This record gives sequence, C-alpha cells and structure tokens, in this order.
Amino acid sequence: MGNYRDFHRRSIEQRDDFWAEQAKLVDWHKPFGKVLDYSRPPFAKWFIGGETNLCHNAIDRHLAARAEQKALVYISTEVDQERSYTFRELHQEVQRVAAMMQSLGVKKGDRVIIYMPMIPEAAFAILACARIGAIHSVVFGGFAAASLAARIDDARPSLMITADGGSRMGKAVLYKSLVDESLRLAKNPPAKVLIYRRGLDPTMPVVAGRDVDWQALAARHAGAQVPCAWLESSEPSYILYTSGTTGQPKGVQRDVGGYAVALASSMKLIYRGEAGETMFTTSDIGWVVGHSYIIYGPLIAGMTTIMYEGVPIRPDAGIWWKIVQEHKASVMFSAPTAIRVLKKQDPAFLKKYDVSSLKHLFLAGEPLDEPTHVWISEALGIPVIDHYWQTETGWPILSAVPGIEKTPIKFGSPSFPVYGYELKLLRESDAAEAAPNEKALVAIVPPLPPGCMTTVWGDDERYVKTYYSTFSKKQVYSTFDWGIRDKDGYYFILGRTDDVINVAGHRLGTREIEEAVSMHPAIAECAVVGVADPLKGQMPLAFAVAKAAVDDRKKLEKEVMDTVDKQLGAIARPRAVHFVTLLPKTRSGKTLRRSIQALAEGRDPGDLTTIEDPAALEQIRNALKEESAPK
Ligand code: ATP
Ligand code: MG
Repeated sequence: MGNYRDFHRRSIEQRDDFWAEQAKLVDWHKPFGKVLDYSRPPFAKWFIGGETNLCHNAIDRHLAARAEQKALVYISTEVDQERSYTFRELHQEVQRVAAMMQSLGVKKGDRVIIYMPMIPEAAFAILACARIGAIHSVVFGGFAAASLAARIDDARPSLMITADGGSRMGKAVLYKSLVDESLRLAKNPPAKVLIYRRGLDPTMPVVAGRDVDWQALAARHAGAQVPCAWLESSEPSYILYTSGTTGQPKGVQRDVGGYAVALASSMKLIYRGEAGETMFTTSDIGWVVGHSYIIYGPLIAGMTTIMYEGVPIRPDAGIWWKIVQEHKASVMFSAPTAIRVLKKQDPAFLKKYDVSSLKHLFLAGEPLDEPTHVWISEALGIPVIDHYWQTETGWPILSAVPGIEKTPIKFGSPSFPVYGYELKLLRESDAAEAAPNEKALVAIVPPLPPGCMTTVWGDDERYVKTYYSTFSKKQVYSTFDWGIRDKDGYYFILGRTDDVINVAGHRLGTREIEEAVSMHPAIAECAVVGVADPLKGQMPLAFAVAKAAVDDRKKLEKEVMDTVDKQLGAIARPRAVHFVTLLPKTRSGKTLRRSIQALAEGRDPGDLTTIEDPAALEQIRNALKEESAPK
C-alpha cells in the first residue's frame, strides 16, 4: 500500500498544499487567502477568507451540465410513494422553501430546528437553510419531547420545521403533537412552527399565531428566486447533536468551506461516486451519515441521491436490493446492524435482484463483526468497506481509500487512517505510543482536518474540556474508543473507553469479547457489558441472540464460554451468557450497553428515548431475574 501510505503522509506533512489541491473540488465565490489558521489551538479554521455556499455546490453549480438529471429520489415503503426531483426541480423547490423561511423572519445565522421524517421536504429545508446561511439543526424524528426540548433550549431556534407525522412499520408516528409537548417543556421556544401535512394525523392540533401551514405558504412562494448567501468558510453551517449513547449530547458545530471540501474529496477518493451515478445511503437525515452522505455529499458530487423511508425488511428483505437494481446504484452506505438484520432473513433475497451496478458497500456506526463482514462480502461479491467515524468528524477517520489504492480488505478492520488525520494509538497510562497489537486509545493529533467539528455550539470551553483533556502533557483529540493496529498497519476498533471491562486489572474491550462470542456459529449477535464483581472488580456478562431457537441453553452457554476461552483466554470468559431474541439498541443501531450494565447492577437504565424497541430491555430484565433466582 505504498501509494496510499505516501498520499496519507503528504496530507500531514504538506498539509496546506494538500488541502489547497482538494479545495479545487468545490466552487469558491471568493478564493481563500490562507489554507489553515491554527493560531488558537486546538481550534482550526480552514480556507480563511474564502467564500462559498453548500447549497450552491450541491445544486446550482450542476445546473449547466445536469439540470435534467435526477438529483433526489424519494422512495417510501411506509406510505407507498416514489417522487423524484431533477437538479432543476430541486433548485426551484429549495428556493421556494428559502423564501418561505425568509417570510417567517429567518435570517443568516439564525437557527432552524428540523424535526422531520424522511421526506423530500426535509431535504429542501436543510438545503434552504444552507442557501440563506441559516444554521440548521436536524433532530432525529424519534427523540422524545424532553430530548427535543433540551436541544431547543441549547440551539435557541427562531423557527422549527416539522410534519404532522412520520410512519414506521406502517404505523403513524405523530410528530406534531410531540413537537407541541417539547415546546411546552422548552424555556425558549421558537415563535413559529412550520408544518408539512402528510395526512398522517387528521386531528392534528393547530396553535393559532404560531403554527404555519407549509402547503399554504408554499403556494404563495411558487417560482421564488433566492440567491445563495456567500459565507466565509469558517462560518457555521449546522449544529448536530451526538447520539447521546454515552450521556449528555453535545452540539457539534460545523463550518461551511472545510465541510464542502471534505465531502467533495471523500466522495471522489473514498466512496468513488461519479457525477451522474446514484448513491443509496440507508441512514436517516437525523444522523451525521444522513447529513454527509444522503444530502450534501452525493449532491456535491453531482450524483442522484436516494432517500428511503422505511425499514430493510418491509415489504420483504429484498427491498434494498430491489432499489439498487431499479436505480442502478453504484455506491451504497449502510450500518452493520442492518446487515445483521438481513443476515437473519432468507439469503435468497440477495440473489433475486441484479446488484451488479454496485462498486462498493460501505458500513459504519458500530463494530462490524467478522462473520457478518464475511457473509455480506460473499453474498454481494464486491468489496464491503467497514469505515469508522463519529458525528464529531463528519466524514471517515479510518477507511480504505480505493480512489488512491485498492488495498486488500481485512475482515473486521476499517483499514487505515484517512488522509488528513494524524492518528495515534496512545497508552492511557502515559500517553506513549502503543506497540503493534497493543490496545490503546484512538487519538487524533490536532488540528483536525477540514470537515470536522469546529467547536461545541456556544461552548468553546466544553469543546476543549471534553475532547482534548485526556492527557495533561499532550493535547490530542480523544475519540473515546479503543483500538489496535496490527503489524500490517490495519486498525481494529475495540469498543468505547467508557465500556471497558476491568477484570482483575486486565482491561478488556467490549468489542473483543463480543467478537469472540460471535465466533460461535450459532450466534447472530451479542452485547457484552462489565458488571461489578466483589472479587475481580468487574466481570463480563453476555447477552446473545441465537440464529435459531435454542433448545439447550446450558449447553450452548458452555460452548460459547469455551469459544471465548479459546479466543481470548479464561480472563475474558463471561460470568453468564443469556439468550435473548433482541438487543436494546438506539434507533441508529447502537447497542445501549450502559443501560444493560445499569440493569445488571441494579441501577436506573437512564435516558431511553431513542431505544428501538423497549421490549428488548424487558428481555434483559427477565434474563437477569432468572440468573439471580435460586437454581
Ligand atoms: P455520544 O458521543 O453522544 O455518546 P455516539 O458516540 O454513539 O454518541 P456517534 O457519533 O453517532 O454517536 O457514533 C460514533 C461512535 O460509533 C464511534 O465513536 C464508535 O464508538 C462507533 N463507531 C462508528 N463507526 C464504527 C466502526 N466502523 N467500527 C467500530 N465502531 C464504530
Ligand atoms: Mg461519541
């Protein structure tokens, strides 16, 4: 991998030249004077003095060459609808929404909270904010009223945009009544709420003077022309709150120019998406993946983006592959949790459709276990690229970079540090660099590359304190994840530092043990947490989902323990292995280990507003009860 290694080295050692080159991938209204201003570490400002606009780069600049090409395809298996918009149509729709927002008093720098389902109007709203320089904060349409209220109070929006409802597994989810509740709870509610009616809530209450009907307002702004506001590169583009898997969500603030460059560059070098092709990202606009690779990234690259409202197994487990076939998607991006769901279904669905248009499948969001990585790679017959990133970074930290070199994939590994990131594995004890195969903290030497968060919204101090204070002698950005690098330079992520299990002084990553449990052929997926133990400090406790019904739990438990012994040694052997049919996860597919751990230690499971299915927690409770019951 000489090529890529050199490329990466140049991105660090000749940082300014490297990024000036990448910056040519976007349109600048006014050229930047300086590539990087790092006069106030760890705050990095990219492309100083340059003026640009994300919406211009996503839409306007493509009008000359591809006005009639599809830009956005909306497919809903929830409400059985498909709508598509060419770049020309998207340009019109976005200008109209920009005019609507302006008529409601939204100005440059104002915050707009977007709490919407996966419908084209959400994309219009996001892009309209970018167009006029308003700062959007998209909140995942699944957060409960209290979580939404906390975000409202932190972002202090002048406008909220929502819909009457969303739909999940064919059932309506009432967004507007939840918004009403959140506005009652918020200390500083916005003056106006713009509501798109889908007909999902016929009895939707309306607050006179505050609530504005989208369709009525849109009718008044047909044909509106709203030019792009030219923004200095470092001005804020949006705020996005982290998932909150590890506690209090942080308002990740991003810039304009650095983000545009990072996305344009990653679309070309990592995702290999060409203008005119189609990208299918199965995430939600409420998550960072949705921001970067449903909305901005593919459009900046001149691609058609697919916005899918629905789940992967309805009407059947072939729906995603059907979409790939029909729209000849060349790039697909999904999450390991979804692939594990599909793995439990009939594999024939994968053969039913022609997915030969796909060049790569990218997966991110949580560890991709080796068996799942192997399964999906074999089933698709294309490279499946695990890549690792965070809301904070906005684009990948670790990934293969096939646009520079087609390096071999190692199953279970997200490959190498992405260009621009000076990655280090540091020992927690003394901040020294770890040896090959030694588990250590994944850290980034600042400045963070373009595209990453610039600060915590409204709280510079919290940014420094949260992310840069792990070591007193070295100021590095902490990812709060454990990792190792093997002798070939491939990285493996071993779990979050606050999930670490300390067994008699041995610090084990949850991922390591989960990976070992999953090695047993009967196991589909699992979660491992550390629970207090009077003798050893902590002990691992495993919850596993089996591929088929378990006849003899004791026997399988013993086998799984033996598998762990063989992989990692007896030190990692779980205290017990409980079989459940479902794991508690957030709606973005992340295992709620903290909540499981809390239950196992008899504590309160904490904030569960984003849990996918509360029944999963009930299963954990029951399993724990059985364990403690006299045998
Ligand atoms: P919070 O920071 O509020 O607790 P969160 O960390 O769950 O929320 P995200 O930013 O969405 O929110 O998730 C990033 C985290 O997801 C990473 O730090 C890592 O733990 C995990 N992750 C993402 N991609 C991968 C991957 N490819 N392999 C392993 N872990 C991954
Ligand atoms: Mg995090």
